[in-house]
Amino acid sequence: MAQVDRRAPLVHLNLRVRGMKPSATIAIQERSTRMAAAGAVVYRLGLGQSPFPVPDCVVRELKKHAHEKAYLPVRGLPELREAIAAHHRKSYGIDCAAKNVIIGPGSKELMFLMQLVYYGDIVIPTPSWVSYEPQARIIGRQVYRLPTLRDNEWKLVPEQIESLCDGDPTRPRLLILNYPANPGGGSYSDADLRALAEKAREFNLVLLSDEIYGKTRFDGKHGSIAKYYPEGTILSGGLSKWCGAGGWRLGFFIVPDRLSWLLDAMAVAASETFTSTSAPIQFAAVRAFQGGPEIDRYLRASRRILRGLGALLSSKLRGAGAQLPDPEGAFYLFPDFSMLRTSLALRGIHTSAQLCERLLVETGVAVLPGSDFARPAEELTLRLSYVDFDGRRALQAARRHPGGGDLPESFFKKYAASTLEGASRLCDWVKK
Ligand code: GLU
Repeated sequence: MAQVDRRAPLVHLNLRVRGMKPSATIAIQERSTRMAAAGAVVYRLGLGQSPFPVPDCVVRELKKHAHEKAYLPVRGLPELREAIAAHHRKSYGIDCAAKNVIIGPGSKELMFLMQLVYYGDIVIPTPSWVSYEPQARIIGRQVYRLPTLRDNEWKLVPEQIESLCDGDPTRPRLLILNYPANPGGGSYSDADLRALAEKAREFNLVLLSDEIYGKTRFDGKHGSIAKYYPEGTILSGGLSKWCGAGGWRLGFFIVPDRLSWLLDAMAVAASETFTSTSAPIQFAAVRAFQGGPEIDRYLRASRRILRGLGALLSSKLRGAGAQLPDPEGAFYLFPDFSMLRTSLALRGIHTSAQLCERLLVETGVAVLPGSDFARPAEELTLRLSYVDFDGRRALQAARRHPGGGDLPESFFKKYAASTLEGASRLCDWVKK
């Protein structure tokens, strides 16, 4: 038997943990903070955090409920579950009730629990958000990537589902769709969703429809695939992106009756892990999902700002040689600098990770490489989050430009100066 050194210092046990890197979005934010604290000028286009404040009516509810101290039910506050179900019935025509809803401390946590309790392969169209795949790997699930095309606006097409599933049609699979998309910024039309739904049904897929950016869709016309594949779609959402409340950590899943066994299993796992979601936040969230004129005004103004800024930055990036579609929602751009491959190679840049590292060190612009979004290392893509500005100030200023029309470039120069400056630095630097 091998000799065990009983005096081995604890530090040598460090191989006994899962060898994973921290989440890319969180790591870039922490690095930006450290750099700024050390005196560097940093353009924070890394983490995707809403620039806008939480609407005042929702903040008031939080203050009113600050004294709520009891653990709430594992699946969530009944009034909130009802408010979320009512909202989705009314706004998106989803056939659901409070019993279909589970609340969690962020949809990210619910996704992890879902992957934990569901024994099946995880299927991810790429580019995809940074954490779906690492979550699957932590748990030990098999991951299949379905690479999408820039020329098709990074959208999944039904034939890709067909060719993945055809050889083994009954294998249990969980397909994760995200629209408006992080990082691509695109969304699906009703016809696209119908076609994808048909294929998902054919192969009995469990579909996780991540609609956390749904309400940021610039034209206000978000629709859910749950309408076309109600029996197999789990709709995921939260407060973080449309309500400026990332740090509040409130997410939800709407799970159809046919998948109630999955909801039950998630609730068991939740009861053994986070127990329940913060009580005051849940009370405040009821107000957010009740909606009304104040929230509608807030949403219209924030979409108008994001639409204008997204279009302006896309055209600037194109001017610098990038290829990218115009965004339709969320606050991300995913430019592809492959056309500049030769000149970048002369500067020693061959991968998206090298591109972003050099960019950060040489210009202070923090963005994330395409490789963090499950794209090939050599593809010269990156994700830019256009959120480095004071959203409260911008919302107030947008009110002084009546009508819903396009805001002028001068507006963004004044109210999103840091984001524009970061993007200009990026453009100048790649063209060098
Ligand atoms: N979803 C955001 C992003 O992609 C940040 C939050 C997170 O990744 O946990 O940047």
